[in-house]
Amino acid sequence: TSIIKVGIVGYGNLGKGVQQAIEQNPDMELAAIFTRRDPQQLAEITGTVTEHISAAEQYIGKIDVMILCGGSATDLPEQTPQLARLFNTVDSFDTHAKIPDFFAEVDKAAQEGGTVSVISTGWDPGMFSMNRLLMQSILPEGEDYTFWGTGVSQGHSDAIRRVPGVKAGVQYTVPVQEVIDSIRGGETPQLTTREKHRRECYVVAEEGADREAITRSIVEMPNYFADYDTTVNFISEDELAAKHSGMPHGGFVIRSGRTGGGSKQIAEFGLKLDSNPEFTASVLVAYARAAFRLKHEGHKGAKTVFDIPLGHLSPKSAETLRRELL
Ligand code: NDP
Repeated sequence: TSIIKVGIVGYGNLGKGVQQAIEQNPDMELAAIFTRRDPQQLAEITGTVTEHISAAEQYIGKIDVMILCGGSATDLPEQTPQLARLFNTVDSFDTHAKIPDFFAEVDKAAQEGGTVSVISTGWDPGMFSMNRLLMQSILPEGEDYTFWGTGVSQGHSDAIRRVPGVKAGVQYTVPVQEVIDSIRGGETPQLTTREKHRRECYVVAEEGADREAITRSIVEMPNYFADYDTTVNFISEDELAAKHSGMPHGGFVIRSGRTGGGSKQIAEFGLKLDSNPEFTASVLVAYARAAFRLKHEGHKGAKTVFDIPLGHLSPKSAETLRRELL
């Protein structure tokens, strides 16, 4: 079997995580990293072949799969359809409400290019979606619950940093333990996302800033915090750096239902991640292998985690998987 040649498009947290994940997978090798920034300058950080994104076309035939590591807000809506015409691709587009439109656009490009484009992998969407589908299919009568956290929310952390008097800050999304306990105990409450999560903020105030005013601005901020139980903790810059510079995340998906004889059945899948981007990158790399296989089997077009056989994620043969893991 031949080595799968991979390209990385975009070198942020995910891009770096993909570079590290490829090292753990001997059936893959990194061909080049593509960026919109100055490639020569970035090469000093990546330590490997680094090209401007406009040079991607020169790599047709030299790269089997492009792993797209751009942001979901503005990068991927542009980059995935463009690159899907030229390469097999994988991305972690995570704007849930826009996935159907995104799929249609990427599918059109990939059909025209004769390529396979796996969209919206990662953990949510991704691993969590697979578990929602799996347990809904098995337990058609029941309730789904998805909890996120404890983890850093980039959007909410940015919102805190924009409050006057705030020097730096981090926001954690924390699932409400009492609600989880009641669901695990068999209750099936109707809950909104807001009732399921709390928000914890760690803030470094500027010297002489009015802390009460900062707290009020955060807690009352519409859309972000007003509808949640929000706590604000003031800490020093040193403490922020020492205790809050990681990117942990995770959460769980629970399906609570009843089977035909009336028995209560509860299924749960959980993730506890020290590094959200490193984990998401590892999912992207496994799906790059699947994209490569699908292409070789003659498939084309956009695909999601729902369309791909699980065995395609593994470097092991179907025969080995049957022997070792069934
Ligand atoms: P980053 O902000 O770190 O990187 C996004 C892009 O910004 C990069 O591809 C890079 O493009 C550019 N960039 C990165 N660092 C710099 C810099 N210092 N200066 C200028 N430009 C920079 O985002 P993440 O890697 O953390 O996440 C990417 C996306 O992944 C998120 O938007 C999120 O939607 C998605 N995601 C999905 C998950 C899921 O479960 N499905 C989980 C986690 C994330 P370039 O090199 O071209 O400049």
